[in-house]
Amino acid sequence: MRLAISVDMEGISGIVSFKQIEAGSPEFQRAQRLATADVNSAIAGAREAGATRFFVHDTHSRDQINLLIDELDDSAEYIGGQPMLLWEALSADYDAALLIGYHGRAGLVSIMSHVYSDLFCDVRLSGKPAGEGVLAAALAGYYDVPTILVTGSDDACVEMREWCPTIETVETKVSLSRYATRCLPLKGTWANIREAARRAVAGLPNHTPLKIHSPITLEVRWRNNQTARSVALMPGVEQTDQETTSFTHEDYAEVDRVLKAMLHIVLSPLNAGHVQVP
Ligand SMILES: [Zn+2]
Repeated sequence: MRLAISVDMEGISGIVSFKQIEAGSPEFQRAQRLATADVNSAIAGAREAGATRFFVHDTHSRDQINLLIDELDDSAEYIGGQPMLLWEALSADYDAALLIGYHGRAGLVSIMSHVYSDLFCDVRLSGKPAGEGVLAAALAGYYDVPTILVTGSDDACVEMREWCPTIETVETKVSLSRYATRCLPLKGTWANIREAARRAVAGLPNHTPLKIHSPITLEVRWRNNQTARSVALMPGVEQTDQETTSFTHEDYAEVDRVLKAMLHIVLSPLNAGHVQVP
């Protein structure tokens, strides 16, 4: 059984601030160790239930070099580095997807809440606000891969249960604001992750892939109108008001491609809105 494990950093056990998860920060090495420990806990539980292949996708930040490969579980295969974007290496070759270290979506009063970049103020799939976990699960669902476990902040878990009712969830922290959180005890959280991963894999037949009914509309409200203008240059993307763009397609794979292209555009130095302070 092959598992795809996507790892973000904001929802990792023990991490409380964006300052800890920027490469070069004095706290970054601790964050790397903590992220690796959460992943290893999930692999240990999944193995107890019979999973055999573990593909760990490093999906945080543009560089995607966060986990410590020499401290990862011996049987893990590691996928990281540029030019990967979002969950670019996901495919239909997996039996299930696990999301480790996820966080609340943009706009929530929730620890380190955002979607991809602070330029995305609100992302909606067919009218319903969606965070990074939902977007990852929707891509997995397109490939008929069920998302069976999420670990992360309280709001990430709540959101994932709304979209994937049978998903196993493990809270690593409770949000006090966007900039403060109460972390749950590390060793207890690692035990919870291990047990939830074991349950998730043992119960795999009960999980179904997240399917977004077509036609699918991707609406994004941007932090400024210049970004909306840049993004609306893409064929098929309409600007519906000063700060909002909309794209509709039958197929989630196309929605995902547009999201990835949007991220390239908004982070480009050609996007004047990138540096604008409102
Ligand atoms: Zn991240």
